[in-house]
Amino acid sequence: GQAQLYLDNAPSEVKELAQTLTMLLSRLSQSWQQEREFVSNVSHELRTPLTIVHGYLQSVLRRQNNLTEVQVEALETAASQAEHTIRLLQDLLDLARADNGSLRLQIKFCVLNDLVEEVVVMAQKYCDRSITIESATYPIQAKADYNRLKQVLLNLIDNAVKYSEDHMPVILKLNQFADHAVIQVCDQGYGIPLQHQTRIFERFYRVDESRSHATGGSGLGLSIVKTLVEGMGGNVSVQSKLGEGSIFTITLQA
Ligand code: ADP
Repeated sequence: GQAQLYLDNAPSEVKELAQTLTMLLSRLSQSWQQEREFVSNVSHELRTPLTIVHGYLQSVLRRQNNLTEVQVEALETAASQAEHTIRLLQDLLDLARADNGSLRLQIKFCVLNDLVEEVVVMAQKYCDRSITIESATYPIQAKADYNRLKQVLLNLIDNAVKYSEDHMPVILKLNQFADHAVIQVCDQGYGIPLQHQTRIFERFYRVDESRSHATGGSGLGLSIVKTLVEGMGGNVSVQSKLGEGSIFTITLQA
């Protein structure tokens, strides 16, 4: 309204500039759209064959009969790299779906006590940390996509383990309030400097590239966490102190 009125009476140079800007913006948004589609297509095309490769590696490893120790080690490395890449591709696909509105979540009332326990059992399979749950025994309920929330918590536990010393415990806390439930993933690890705390939820953002690099992450984990939790109508935040640890808090509607 107001802007249009102003433009109608503006000198022709301004009108031309406005037109050029509009055109540039539409080209930019077109190329962003193309880039997203490209990422989504490539992720999809790579994931399928890589999943097959991973499957074969697993089946050879399961039989193991005539393999030497060196061969087993090589195959295990290949399998774990394949697994890592499959997860990265899945994350890229999820983000692309969230971008174009085709990420479908199945939101229902969930009992979080069971969910958190399942997650801890899963996490204990790949790390021998002390992971404990602090929760009331009565059922704590909230609206969530059960499997996606498990993915979210596994991501946060994975980080809690990656960014702390080997002997440090991870604690999951569960609390029910009148209209929401809260899940917290707490670690006593390296912590996150204040100026990075809002940015860690951005795609590919990593605090300390050298240290983060050694842990082999992609910088996508927390952006997935945020996208999924917000998709469930909840929100996620972080409290952290350098050298003391971090608490990631997820709030979900009850
Ligand atoms: P990734 O772990 O793959 O690097 P994330 O998106 O999960 O990617 O995390 C982004 C960055 O936030 C990490 O690189 C790390 O620097 C920081 N971070 C995340 N979780 C923690 C944590 N629990 N403690 C300390 N730093 C963390």
